[in-house]
Amino acid sequence: MMEKEYVISELIRFSEIKDFKKEYLYFFKDYYEQAKIAYSNLCEKCIEYEKIDLPYDCLSNPIYCVKNRNDLKIITLYEELENE
Ligand SMILES: [Zn+2]
Repeated sequence: MMEKEYVISELIRFSEIKDFKKEYLYFFKDYYEQAKIAYSNLCEKCIEYEKIDLPYDCLSNPIYCVKNRNDLKIITLYEELENE
């Protein structure tokens, strides 16, 4: 399993724990910060398109954009748990 997929599965598991404690999130804080940084940049595919002057739009998440959806999942799950 990829590291990010592992983080996602753990965060989902957290969201299903009744007595979830926010301290559990501490273990994944670095992943969360990394995901935020990764997600604020263009994905590799879009950087390639930019180089050859083709249109790209990571934010609108077009089909060709491989901007890491796992990063977005990590960010969303983490923030949901943080704000619980
Ligand atoms: Zn992209």
